[in-house]
Order: sequence, then structure tokens, then C-alpha cells
Amino acid sequence: MPPKFSPDDPAIAALISSFKAIGLTDSKAIEAARSPKNAAALKSLVDRADLTNEENLDEKKATLIASLSNAATKLDDPARLYVVRAVIDGKIKSGEQVLAAVKFLETRGGSIDSNAFDAACGVGVELTPDDIYSILKSLVTSQRIEGWGSLQSVLSAAKNATKLRWAPPLEVKNAGDRVFTELFGPKEVIDKSKPKESKKAASSSSKIEMQVESVPDAPERTMFEEGFLGKLHKPGDNPQIKPELREAHLAATGGKVFTRFPPEPNGYLHIGHSKAIYIDFGYAAHHKGHCYLRYDDTNPEAEEGRYFESILQSVRWLGFEPWKITYSSDYFDQLHAFAVELIKRNKAYVCHCTGEEINANRGGDNHGARKACAHRSRPISESLKGFDGMRDGKYKSGEAILRMKQDLENGNPQMWDLIAYRVLNASHHRTGTKWRIYPTYDFTHCLVDSMESISHSLCTTEFVQARESYEWLCDALEVYKPRQSEFGRLNLQGTITSKRKIQRLVRDGHVLDWDDPRLYTLVALRRRGVPPAAILSFVAHLGVSTALTSIQTVRLDQTIRSYLENTAPRLLMVLKPLKVILVNVPEDYVQMVDKQLHPKVPELGKTTIPFSRELFIDIDDFRLQDSKDYFRLAPGKTVGLFQAPHPITCTSYKVDPTTNEVVELICSLEDGSAGPIPPKPKAFIQWVANHPPSGSPVVVDETRIFNQLFKSDNPAASDDFIKDINPNSLEVVKGALVEIGLWPLAKKLFTEARQEAELRTNKALKEGEVVSQSGSTNDPHGDTPVPTIDQLVGNECVRFQGLRVAYFALDKESIVGCLDEKDDASAGARTGDRIILNRIVSLKEDAGKKAV
Ligand code: ATP
Ligand code: MG
Repeated sequence: MPPKFSPDDPAIAALISSFKAIGLTDSKAIEAARSPKNAAALKSLVDRADLTNEENLDEKKATLIASLSNAATKLDDPARLYVVRAVIDGKIKSGEQVLAAVKFLETRGGSIDSNAFDAACGVGVELTPDDIYSILKSLVTSQRIEGWGSLQSVLSAAKNATKLRWAPPLEVKNAGDRVFTELFGPKEVIDKSKPKESKKAASSSSKIEMQVESVPDAPERTMFEEGFLGKLHKPGDNPQIKPELREAHLAATGGKVFTRFPPEPNGYLHIGHSKAIYIDFGYAAHHKGHCYLRYDDTNPEAEEGRYFESILQSVRWLGFEPWKITYSSDYFDQLHAFAVELIKRNKAYVCHCTGEEINANRGGDNHGARKACAHRSRPISESLKGFDGMRDGKYKSGEAILRMKQDLENGNPQMWDLIAYRVLNASHHRTGTKWRIYPTYDFTHCLVDSMESISHSLCTTEFVQARESYEWLCDALEVYKPRQSEFGRLNLQGTITSKRKIQRLVRDGHVLDWDDPRLYTLVALRRRGVPPAAILSFVAHLGVSTALTSIQTVRLDQTIRSYLENTAPRLLMVLKPLKVILVNVPEDYVQMVDKQLHPKVPELGKTTIPFSRELFIDIDDFRLQDSKDYFRLAPGKTVGLFQAPHPITCTSYKVDPTTNEVVELICSLEDGSAGPIPPKPKAFIQWVANHPPSGSPVVVDETRIFNQLFKSDNPAASDDFIKDINPNSLEVVKGALVEIGLWPLAKKLFTEARQEAELRTNKALKEGEVVSQSGSTNDPHGDTPVPTIDQLVGNECVRFQGLRVAYFALDKESIVGCLDEKDDASAGARTGDRIILNRIVSLKEDAGKKAV
């Protein structure tokens, strides 16, 4: 029995007094000494960091350090001391942050990246009660929320998914009460009048679809533990035809979750696939299991090498690493052996019926009586011979097939003697001309799932009926039977995702390529600059059930916008420049302005830009006719310039006599030198200095503004979708200007992305599992895609908000010399640079909706 705890025990008393010496109250110091393990951890921190002599400690900081010492049992000393320092320096201020710090450091090895640490722990996030109120208000008003019943779910979703996580909980609660009172009236009234209904409303509206602005930590938790995914079986609990199959399965997997993402390599992945990817990879990761990327390549006629590469690239870009990359074709030998075994068990037969005959025997189009064909009852030996004949080229395509002998009486068409193998005189992408027969999806999928010991075979609901044949085949061969579970597809309305239709758009030149940013393929979303985390956030918040989710593209845009709001740095940008001359300052006047890249997120950094005699503002921020409700620039009017030292007043302007357009504004700088300083301006506009000595401005060759590709909300509904194309879906603006902060920002974002990609890729390669199971022998074309850094990093990782304009990313066709130079090369323009920006999303929904 452990000795009884006594504060008077001299050893414990010494501990307590050393804890009090760092600032803990009596009771907290006693509490900290109570558990020998925790006490030892705290004492070692006190000694290692020499906390007794630390002047900047107070009770609050000491309490945080005590909780750190409890939580950080898995951290090494340098990591723990790093957090202690952050607490002492006032960077880490709450228990929530301490936990985030520990979690962050647990998953990082080696040296500590201070920027990443700060970002993960919310260092520097300062929220006033008003900030908290406005974040909650905008979240609540953008959702369908019915009343007070949703308060808790809103608070926890908001807290988990936005920076409110770092705000004092009480203030969040107060702000929530305030928002809900404004929207739904005082709480008591509702509770009293409809006690039952309000309870019901609470549970139904707790399923609200939150749109969030940060990495989807919280949705992950809920999505994988609740609803459809929360109800899935535990590994090993799926029934087997023989108990030893279960034991063998658990022995092979160690009881872990095993899933797979099984795309057919016959096209690029689209937004719908991101749901399957998130579910397959995410569910496995959530349960500390593994997920295969399995190319389902049983149809040699539709496959192309570029799709293999692109699929891996999109999976990795979304943030997932396959545990292994496999191919259904890796298993052609085993599948063939299974087919022979099935014939031997009298559960398959070679059939020579035509397509029409098969259809007629299955009851025909009028669903009449079903009957067996003559081949069904042929002897096993004949089928074995016939199957060899199929393999050896005795039959042409269509002359013989191998069919499973299932159950024609069954009401499920998936049980009507499905085809297992067919003759195809096609060369296969990976197995070359080795095979003349290829297994079908119905034969392959369940058996490969079985061979890969998949615990959860997750797919979309079109396969519900196929589950019966899936299980039939595993049982017929008496092999381990994975459990297939089906979730609803994600369909995006307002666009087209069908491969055939996109192919036509590309072929006929309506879009640039499969990655045209107006499309919703993953390569297109990536090129447009959409952050992968925003896509995951979108999927996570739609949730997973068996129902089809059909959702408008504007909803996705809304999620992207919210995500970028607090993650994208902001730069001054002028889309259509109008020159401004400040007449009351000297020719060589210049003032360097230090500014934050984000008003509320200091971690995003700072830049320094010139403010000089010649400036550019946007043409749309000037008008000749002034009016009462107009606050920007007009003759005689004063306007503020964002982050500039002083406002300006327009005194006159120049007009081009041929076009009659205003081409230059003459203004004075309101710095007090020319008379009394006018009152604070009512509006602020963006500007960029014309100051060649500092390289200002950066000239953008092309700014591409994408609008909806289709005029109607449902182009997929008609085959005539070409007629539905919006003629104004792409506007190109030439000569926009951006502040010189773009260079260092681009360089920084690019370098950071590269570093992260390097770490991830090295890890993926080192773990060595991401090679085809069959190695190179089965890979005559040497085309097994291997993880590379370039799959993860492209120009699109340079994203920013052009202040008051829109969110932009660098297009893949841009040439920015400084990005390619490693390490310490300075950021800035290079000869041959070409800047092309893609608009990711507009700043507000309406502005971005269909310019038709
Ligand atoms: P498409 O019909 O769009 O070409 P597919 O079903 O043929 O799609 P596969 O490449 O076979 O595409 O799909 C790989 C995985 O992605 C499958 O598990 C499939 O169920 C899933 N998937 C495909 N489309 C969607 C979607 N819209 N929503 C959710 N999951 C999807
Ligand atoms: Mg398919």
C-alpha cells in the first residue's frame, strides 16, 4: 500500500514549500504534491528551469506550469522547457493553450518551429468581448438555427473550429447568450411556453451544418464518432462463416481498423471523391488504423497513366498518406486461383450466352420469370476446361464468360449469376499482355478487400444491393468477409462532375483543361487556390449519413471564404489603377509604412511598403459626382488610405481629351502642413505606391476572375449542358497592381510549404510502405507513383486577400523566379517573371454569384 499522504511529512513539506516559492497558493501547492508522480514531474520542471529564481512568475503562470507538468509526461525536457518559457513570457495564457502546446509538441520530433507552435497554440490571439460576439453572430446568422436549443452545439462547434477556442470560456458563453437573446428573445420565455418542443428542437437542430474558418479538428471528432461512422462495428465484430476466419483476421491486423480508398484510374478525382477520401483515410486515422490507396484497375480499356499520378497527388494534397499503394491487378494471379476454386466448388460456370440471352433469362425488361441457362448445369470439369480456354485465347471477347452460380430465386438482381470474368483482348497498363481475361468489379472488390484484411469496406449507397453478392462470394470461398457499409454520395449542384461531360468541355475548348479553376475536380480546386483544409471542413460539416447530399457550389464557396478570412494574409491591391499625385509633398517624398498582414491575426506577419508622392487607387473608388451617402474620393472630398499615414483630398483631376476619361487625380496629403487636419474620414480605400526605387508596385500580368461556368443551377440535369455555359465565366484583368509585400510573402509561404512537404514526403518514403505491394516486377511501365514533394507544393500555396478586392492565389502558369531560389536568396522581381492570379473566391457571396 502506498504511504498515506501527509503534508507534514518533511519530504512532502519541502516539495510544498518549493511549489509555493514559484507562486502557487497553499492549497494548490498541496494539491500538486499529492500525487508522487505529478509532484516529481513538477519538481523537476522547477529545478530544470530554475523557476524559484524566476521573477516573472505569478500565481496564474505557476498554475499553468503545474498543469503542464501533469500533461507533458510524454515530452522531452527541451520541449517542456520551451512551453515553460512560453508561459513565463506571457505567450501561453490558458489551460487550453497548454494542452494544445503539449499536443503539438507530442507530434513533432526534432527542433521546434516557433511559428508553427504559435499558430497551433493560438499565441497572440487577442479577442475582446465584441470580437467574440461578432464571430458568434456571423456564425449563427449564416446557419439555419431555430432557437435556444442550439446554443450548446453552436458554442462547442464554434469553440472547436474557430479561434474562439482561445477566448475565456465565460466570455464566449456571455457572448452566446447575447447573440441568442437578440435573435430569439429571452431564454426563459421560450423554455416555459414550449417545454417539450424546445427539447425536440434542441436535438434536431444540434445537427446544424457549421461553416468554420479553421482546420477541422472538431468536425473530425464528431464526424468519426457520431452518426453513421459512429455506429460502425468494431474490428472483428463483422460475422464470418467460420470462427477461425475472425481469429486469423484479428491476428493479421492486430485488431486495427483497415480501410481502403479504391478509385478507378479512369479520370481525375472530383469534389465528391474528397468525401470518400476523408471518410476512408480519416476513419482509419481516427482509430489509429491504416488506409490503402488501391487503384481498382480491372478495366484496362479505360485506364491511363496520368490518372494514377494525379489520384495520388490529390490524396496527398488533401493531407493523407496511403499506408500502402496497391492495385487490384496485383492480385490477378490470386483472383484467377479463386475463380478456379469457385468452379471446383460448383459455384461458378463458364457460360456462352449473349448479352440478350442473359437479359432474357433474368426476366427481360418486363421483369418476367427468371430461368437458368443450359450452361449453368454443365459439369465442373467442362467449366474448368472452358475457363482455361478463356485464359488461353480460345475465345474472343463475348464468346465466353465465367459466371457465379448464385441464386436466381433471390429478389436481388445482384444475385442473378453475376459475371466474374470476361475475355478482353486488351493490354493492361500494368500486367501488359499477360492476361486475356479480366475479373469484374463484383468478383474483384470483395476478394481484394478480403486479402487486404479490410475491416471496414466503406462505399457509396449505389452499392447497397451489391453487398449481398459481396458477402455471398466471400462465404462461397470461405475466406475472411469484410463488412461493407454504405454512405450517401456528395453531389455538387451548379456544376458538372461526370467524367464524360468534363471530357467534352475540355475537348471542345470550353475550359482550359481538367484543372480549369471553374471546374470542381480536385486538381481544379487546387489550381484555383482553394486550401485543402477548407474542402475537408466543407465535407466534415455536411456530415456523413446514408442520404445523398446535394449542395450548391455557393455553399462550398462560402466555406472557403470563411476559412480564408482568418488564415489568408492581406495585401493592398488595385485591380484597375488610377494615378494619384500628391501635390503638396516634395518630388522625392517617401515614407516607409510597417503594416500587419492581418488586422486580427498577428501571427501572419508584417510587411514594409513605401508611401510616396505618386500612388494608384482603384478607378471604382473615384467619382465625379459626389452624393450624401458616398464616402470615397470625389473632387473636393477627403478619403482615408488603409494603413497610410494620412488621408488625402482630391483637389482636381486630368481628363484624357480623346476618351474623356479621368486619368489622373491631383490630391493633397492631409498631414497638417497645408492647413487644419480634416475630421477622420468615413471611408478607407486601398492604394499602392508608384515608387520604382523600392520596386513598387508589383504589376500583375493577368488577374483571372472566375464566375460560375453554367447559367442554370443544375447543368448536370440536361445533356444539353453546353448551351448552359455562361459566356462570362472568365474575366481577365490585365495590369492590376499589388504592394511589394507580395514578394516576401510569396517567398515565405512557398518556403514553408516546401519545408512541410519535405518532412511529410521523407516520412512517407522512409516508412517505406507506400510502394506497390508487388514491387517493381509487376510494374513493367515503372509507373507506380511515388510520393514527391512537388505533389504537395505548387504556386497555389501563395494565397492572399487583395484588400477590398477578393482572395487570390498564384496560378500554376506564373513564373516567379525568387520562389525557385533556395534558402536565403532575397525575395523580389526577377527578369522573366510573369504573374497570374486566380480569384479563389470573392469577398462576399453576391459579388461572386453569376455575372451572366
Ligand atoms: P464517378 O461516377 O464520378 O466517376 P466513381 O464512383 O466511378 O465516380 P471511383 O473512382 O470508382 O468513382 O470512386 C472511388 C471511390 O470514391 C468509391 O468508393 C466511390 O464510392 C467514391 N465516390 C465517387 N464519387 C463520389 C461522390 N460523389 N461522393 C462520395 N463518394 C464518391
Ligand atoms: Mg467507378
